Amino acid sequence: MFAKTAHALAVTYNELWNQQPELHGVTRQAANRFRNYARAKGWPPPAAWDDDVIDDPAALPEWTGCCGTDRGWWMHTLQKLPMCELCEAAHERWNAKHRGLEKGAFQAALMKSRASASSRGSDIAEDGRELMRLGHSYDTAAGRLGVTLNHLQQELHRHPARPRGRSPTAVGKKPPEPSTGR
Ligand SMILES: [Zn+2]
Repeated sequence: MFAKTAHALAVTYNELWNQQPELHGVTRQAANRFRNYARAKGWPPPAAWDDDVIDDPAALPEWTGCCGTDRGWWMHTLQKLPMCELCEAAHERWNAKHRGLEKGAFQAALMKSRASASSRGSDIAEDGRELMRLGHSYDTAAGRLGVTLNHLQQELHRHPARPRGRSPTAVGKKPPEPSTGR
């Protein structure tokens, strides 16, 4: 490639990498069609590339922030991102390592790995409270949710209980204290 061509491409990339097509006259429908096309082809977005290696044909994209681990594989899966080679290989290694487990233990390990990739901490906290309200201990609630006891406790701490119910009277303001006239 001529240096001039490489430079022109780099300049164009710098201008376009973070632009929303819809803000430049492209219809939402057309933009979505191309997003779906890129997704189907497994093309990583600019954010998956390290600027220092983007020109290296051997470089691999970093989709999840932890590609090459089983957690990364779950992040691709939960966020519906195209799978990358490193995570595919990591998940195969995970499966090979856990293959010997009996079914229940395998399932538990799988859910634990999945929970490690979930960003839905508030869901875990809410479900945990619900299970404990139903009489489960911390331990069994964590087991039911497929997270460690430590993880459940962290999420409970991070996401304090909110008043339940949609009715405004249920969570309405406290009535004013009667004045004592002091
Ligand atoms: Zn990956």
